[in-house]
Amino acid sequence: MFTLIKLSGDGWEKAFNTEQETAEELSKWVCPFCEAEASGNLYELLATFCGAEFMLEEEETLEELVKEFFEKYLDRVEETESGGFFNPIVVSCCRSMMMEPLGELLEKMRVLSGARKMEGE
Ligand SMILES: [Zn+2]
Repeated sequence: MFTLIKLSGDGWEKAFNTEQETAEELSKWVCPFCEAEASGNLYELLATFCGAEFMLEEEETLEELVKEFFEKYLDRVEETESGGFFNPIVVSCCRSMMMEPLGELLEKMRVLSGARKMEGE
């Protein structure tokens, strides 16, 4: 969740779900020179002369954090020296009755968060 705040003139606040949407809105408010300089990147737009009239507030959501949990950690794949692949971070469970429901729960969390599953799994 991104909140773009216009500080100058008739200041306003607008909320956006994605970095891309926020950058598109901010692009409308900067001059063509600053827009070209930032080439569509939100943080570069904010760093331009025109972008200095704006402030950005970013709020992390549980969904985004769960997505990061899977994409960055649980789904991380590393290659061994012998060319094999393994997951360095795993959730372990020593109660055999709970292994399957835990696996199902994690899979539901992965799908609901929108995390992309790595290829070859
Ligand atoms: Zn400008």
